[in-house]
Amino acid sequence: MLDLFKSRRRAKLRAQPAPSAWREILQRNLPIFNRLTPEDQAELLGHTQVFLNEKHMEGAGGLEITDEIRVTIAGQACLLLLHREIDYYPELISIIVYPSGYTANEERHIGGGFWEEGAEDRLGHTGHRLGALVLAWDAVRHGAAAPADGRNLVLHEFAHQLDFENSSGDGTPLLATRGDYLVWARVMSAEFDALRNATWSGEETLIDNYGVTNPGEFFAVITEAFFERPRALRKKHPELFEQLQRFYKQDPTTYSLEEISAPST
Ligand SMILES: [Zn+2]
Repeated sequence: MLDLFKSRRRAKLRAQPAPSAWREILQRNLPIFNRLTPEDQAELLGHTQVFLNEKHMEGAGGLEITDEIRVTIAGQACLLLLHREIDYYPELISIIVYPSGYTANEERHIGGGFWEEGAEDRLGHTGHRLGALVLAWDAVRHGAAAPADGRNLVLHEFAHQLDFENSSGDGTPLLATRGDYLVWARVMSAEFDALRNATWSGEETLIDNYGVTNPGEFFAVITEAFFERPRALRKKHPELFEQLQRFYKQDPTTYSLEEISAPST
């Protein structure tokens, strides 16, 4: 009953017209928004309304949250939700936004049962069972304005949230069937090994080397590549591209600005 109530409330939110100022913010700050089909633009605005209704966003380090900040973050986060059956990042409650990079004090697992404590400079972060996601506003804005450089902080952090949905954070998001998991595991472990080998031998890679940290980071960086460098990714990593296309149920080559600002080789 609760779910029925929730899905009705969400459908109502999606159906109401979004403030025209929100559309203008997306048009101004997210160059790819203007390249989506009218149907996808409407779907994205609908998801943005649900997202901003359900998630708490607060400023830190003196930053005051404005509609521009809210909509620029939500618009990018909701790009990952288009066409899919979704639950709007169910683990996530709060988004904390700093004006720029911030220093985090925390414990980090460094393997073998050891934990390291110390300050770390960051642009964004989220964690399994944390319920929160932290972003630096200048990096969010830059990521949106440069849609083909292969990097996008918001897509990265929200890919982690998708990964957490099947409760493991192991680099495998919720897939439909057992067969899907088998193919995903085969393709991704081969691609992960290839990235690790290329990194060790100092080769230049299309996929961000940060992905070799662990399979969770691998999923986050291939998500960035999928949305920002889709043509190059399809050419160099066709099986990986196919897996992501099946999962995300969209083909960013149809709207990407990659060819204009970063031609693939
Ligand atoms: Zn990450």
